[in-house]
Amino acid sequence: MVDLVVIGAGPAGMAGALAAAECGLEVVVVDEQAAAGGQIFRRTPESFGGSRATRPYRWAPDLIARFDAHPNIRVLYRSTAFGIMRDREGSAVRLNVGVSAATGGELIPAKRILIATGSYDLPVAFPGWTKPGVMTVGAAQTLLKSQKVLAGRRVILAGSHPLLLIAADQLLQAGAEITEIAFARGLPRASEMGAALSAAPGHFEIFAEAGRAAARVVSRGVKVTTRTIVTAATGGAAVTGARLTQVDPAWHRVGPEREVSGDLLLLGYGFSPATDLARQAGCEMRWNSRLGGWTVVTDERFASTAADIFVAGEPTGVAGAEQSRAEGRIAGLHIAESLGSSASDHPRLLRRAHRALSSSGRFSAVVQAMFEPNREALGHLSDPEGTTVCRCELVDSGSLDTALRANPFISTANAAKLECRSGMGPCQGRYCEGTVATRVAAARGIAVADAGYFTAHVPVKPVPLSTYRMLGSTSD
Ligand SMILES: Cc1cc2nc3c(=O)[nH]c(=O)nc-3n(C[C@H](O)[C@H](O)[C@H](O)COP(=O)(O)OP(=O)(O)OC[C@H]3O[C@@H](n4cnc5c(N)ncnc54)[C@H](O)[C@@H]3O)c2cc1C
Repeated sequence: MVDLVVIGAGPAGMAGALAAAECGLEVVVVDEQAAAGGQIFRRTPESFGGSRATRPYRWAPDLIARFDAHPNIRVLYRSTAFGIMRDREGSAVRLNVGVSAATGGELIPAKRILIATGSYDLPVAFPGWTKPGVMTVGAAQTLLKSQKVLAGRRVILAGSHPLLLIAADQLLQAGAEITEIAFARGLPRASEMGAALSAAPGHFEIFAEAGRAAARVVSRGVKVTTRTIVTAATGGAAVTGARLTQVDPAWHRVGPEREVSGDLLLLGYGFSPATDLARQAGCEMRWNSRLGGWTVVTDERFASTAADIFVAGEPTGVAGAEQSRAEGRIAGLHIAESLGSSASDHPRLLRRAHRALSSSGRFSAVVQAMFEPNREALGHLSDPEGTTVCRCELVDSGSLDTALRANPFISTANAAKLECRSGMGPCQGRYCEGTVATRVAAARGIAVADAGYFTAHVPVKPVPLSTYRMLGSTSD
């Protein structure tokens, strides 16, 4: 049995694994990617030069190098953690992480587990969103960062998150043409700018990097509109453009629609914490829209409510790479302590990590408040009859509404899932949970949070059937 299995090798997972390993723990890290770094520090394959951008985070090269080199850390890359299972022998409970890789499956027994699975782009359903050529901005950025692939030539970006500007800059540098960047929100107000500036000390490089990206985009003459929302992707088999319309501060449509052309439509409304494994493992969840929606409840050590399972980074709330790193470090130190392996300067290391956490927390709170998506308004984008809501099970908004009218007892997203199958496909609801919850909430006149979340089951991500052969006598 290993001391600790860490799921995710982003800033949170790397920092957690390293802190625990430096205290003497034997650590196994599982990540779907081919190298450490997570979403933000992706690396191209060696055949493409093996390059990796770590700006503006000065600490990143050192963290990655120490993580890669530590003898107590064994990393399973290109491997998916698909479930957390418990073996019971009398009153004793043993945790196992189910891992699937191209070479087969493995059950890894662990004394402690650290879930550091990051986040993913918030999906939004509207007419035409399933056409080839409609992607999230993070997906296009991933293709560019990891494979140097430009997903289209004439790009429309729409949403509300500042990542749109950063990605636009990267796309322009890679040779794309940008036809429009449409922000659903207005320009930042003076009070928001004031709050941002007051949180800036210690984060100037992040500000400067974002500012430089925005300046480059503007200097290229790219059309940037505010209070503008995308209502449809147009075209036949593939995207040829998007319909956009003016919205008021509450994101209600106030103007006629207009069409803009492009062969790639990228959406960026923010991120959803990747909480499927934590949900499946029985961790308590809490709704916080600013932090990305459903987040995992932890104490100040980043221990979840499930015994011996810690959670760090974006599953506890989307807050950026600095905060993920600080959370991972605090979790790793406490995990080591819980197994009796504290470092000699443990209190000092913890104090330092907590200082980093509160500094990054001040900064991320400003970003979270400024760029919270208007979930109700986004839910209404799927109102037009026939709009696909669940792309795996092909459930549209009309059939969902019919089921809600026919069965007045459906008042949660999970009940709607059982009735309509929305959320039962291979993505396990990652794409449709938000839309289903907002439609249920609108139909019942309740808050989105009260519509709840989809339960998660093993496997939380698709794995080959052969993976199951190794599950043996695990009782869960
Ligand atoms: C698509 C995308 C693009 C982004 N672009 C930017 C940007 O340009 N600039 C910026 O400042 N911030 C960006 N962010 C935010 C930034 O990536 C995060 O703030 C930061 O990476 C969070 O660190 P983390 O360790 O919590 O999670 P991550 O860095 O996301 O790391 C999580 C890791 O867990 C792995 N993982 C997840 N589930 C499993 C599983 N079941 N089994 C195995 N491995 C698993 C993933 O492969 C990933 O490597 C982006 C986020 C996303 C989702």
